[in-house]
Amino acid sequence: MAQETKRNPTWTRDELILALDHYVQHPSVSHDPGKPEIMQLAKDISAIATALGLAGSDTFRNANGVSMKLLNFRAHDPDYTSRGQSGLKRGNKLEAELWVEFAGDPKRLAETAAAIRAGIAASDPETSRSLVEVEPDIAEAEEGRVVTRMHRSRERNRKIVARKKADFEKKHGRLFCEACGFDFAAIYGERGEGFIECHHTVPVSKLRPGDTTKLSDLVLLCANCHRMVHVRRPWLRVTDLRQFLRAASSN
Ligand SMILES: [Zn+2]
Ligand SMILES: [Zn+2]
Repeated sequence: MAQETKRNPTWTRDELILALDHYVQHPSVSHDPGKPEIMQLAKDISAIATALGLAGSDTFRNANGVSMKLLNFRAHDPDYTSRGQSGLKRGNKLEAELWVEFAGDPKRLAETAAAIRAGIAASDPETSRSLVEVEPDIAEAEEGRVVTRMHRSRERNRKIVARKKADFEKKHGRLFCEACGFDFAAIYGERGEGFIECHHTVPVSKLRPGDTTKLSDLVLLCANCHRMVHVRRPWLRVTDLRQFLRAASSN
């Protein structure tokens, strides 16, 4: 139906994070779509949407729509609702989730918004080319798709992964999962020789395109453990994964 094709796609985490960051920094001002900062925010959000492969009608992510989103956040804002004001009632589930995840931690929110902006601004192919494709078994990080892609591309950087494995093997004499101890070569013999995955441990909100990965930023994980880190939000930290495994094996 013609009407359907005109509908604008729902907002992604990445876009909402930028809007929420603006809201948290300017909670009580009017978000008039005619204001230069709202027009700029709309531009930035459109750039993200485009990089994520989204497109819509003429009104797609325009200043009006962005202004409405900011007003939606008021419905989740106790500072606002406690004054007897209700904000727009049209808030959706993802907005509510993001409010819970980020509104109490403006520093992390600001860092995440900065990481997303930097990821989009960089002409670096790691962030611009592969944004549209989504890995089905990897849950997008709380911080959105742009930083998820940055995280994954660091883990797939062959050069640094090879250096990490060589360094680890030199220290420990063999490769094994740093969470569960699984050793592919010990179990699968020659077929498993040299096989292990790398997980990048820097919080994704702190990732910036062009940063170099240090060997100490990476841990070796078997394919199962690495999958379990990323399968749901929030991603597990390696310490949590270890605790989880310890608790499971003591049962
Ligand atoms: Zn493991
Ligand atoms: Zn990972």
